[in-house]
Amino acid sequence: MVAPAAKFEAVEPGQLSNKDRTRLDEFYRDVQKQAGTFAGYPVSGEFDYHELFRFLSYPLNNVGDPFTPCIYHMHTREFECEVLEWFAQLTHAPKKDWWGYVTNGGTEGNLYGLYLARELYPNAMVYFSQDTHYSVSKNLRLLRMPHIMIRCLPSGEIDYEDLYETLRIHRDVPPIIFANIGTTMREGVDNVGRIQSILKQLAIPESYIHADAALSGMTLPFIEGAPKFDFSAGIQSLSISGHKLIGAPVPCGVVLALKQNVDRIARSIEYVGTLDTTITGSRNAITPLMLWYAIRSQGIGGFRKTVNRCLSRAEYAVNRLNEIGIKAWRNPHAITVVFPKPAPPILEKWQLAIQGDFAHIMVMPHVTREKIDQLAADTISNPS
Ligand SMILES: *Cc1c(COP(=O)(O)O)cnc(C)c1O
Repeated sequence: MVAPAAKFEAVEPGQLSNKDRTRLDEFYRDVQKQAGTFAGYPVSGEFDYHELFRFLSYPLNNVGDPFTPCIYHMHTREFECEVLEWFAQLTHAPKKDWWGYVTNGGTEGNLYGLYLARELYPNAMVYFSQDTHYSVSKNLRLLRMPHIMIRCLPSGEIDYEDLYETLRIHRDVPPIIFANIGTTMREGVDNVGRIQSILKQLAIPESYIHADAALSGMTLPFIEGAPKFDFSAGIQSLSISGHKLIGAPVPCGVVLALKQNVDRIARSIEYVGTLDTTITGSRNAITPLMLWYAIRSQGIGGFRKTVNRCLSRAEYAVNRLNEIGIKAWRNPHAITVVFPKPAPPILEKWQLAIQGDFAHIMVMPHVTREKIDQLAADTISNPS
């Protein structure tokens, strides 16, 4: 056997060297520093799960389907099912006709939704807008699903006329619409009702709508007068990220779908004594516990407060940037503030994502008015 390189050799097996320990301490300080100017990604920095740390000492695993019993008893399925139930109610899933699981994030939920749609409609064509998250074209290639990209409106939502015209030409194949409920860069929301009426106008008999509600699935339900995007609006599956608005130190999310559809593709696996309905086999059992903790401790009222606080701060950010001559704007109901690409030091310090000639600030729960003022001040001293 070849000995490992000295670089990876432990001083005393089972212990870290002082040098390695110092390295972790330095890394920790750097993480703390970076967290102070983290405003460009739709991820909350405000959460506290220290009561759950004790569970990290066990090999918990939610392998397979959360709703069926399993030979592997070290799991958090009961908590996972409660989390799913909460999301099912929030998104008006039909009682007793929904299914889902806690995923590794929005991307996995979208992959699952597309996979399910493809199994139901193997000859379908997928339609999604230009502003769709970058992971979707990869998912479509992975699933080998034919697809057509539709133009976007300036708000970031799908161009309904382009969708209508494109669907009209392909009326012979069932459409799968990948709807964006909050696009990544501008938080544009595709109007599900309008998409439905286009399908109806064209007399398309069979279709599937999946909603990518990575961020806005956790904001719109708490905003008065926000557009309807969920099961009550006629979608068949949806994906929401858990580490975005709710916040978690480990990426996670939920996917929900109509049970009657899922039942048609479920397969039983003897080795784990459960149903292999999920994309991955072994699944994270800690993130369902975190989501459960957040839901139980915040409740609907807590999330409503958080979301509305983010909205008013987003409005504050738009006004603050406009005051200093920057053309910032946001969509109605959005916590994403869009503005022309600032100077490189600003992008670097505030970790801002860009697309072409614009950038955005994500006014997540940890982005305070003081932070917005600081960012505005930095922008004045670093004109683009
Ligand atoms: C973040 C995001 C995703 C991907 O979600 P992950 O949780 O990062 O995998 C997909 N779609 C949209 C619109 C997003 O904002």
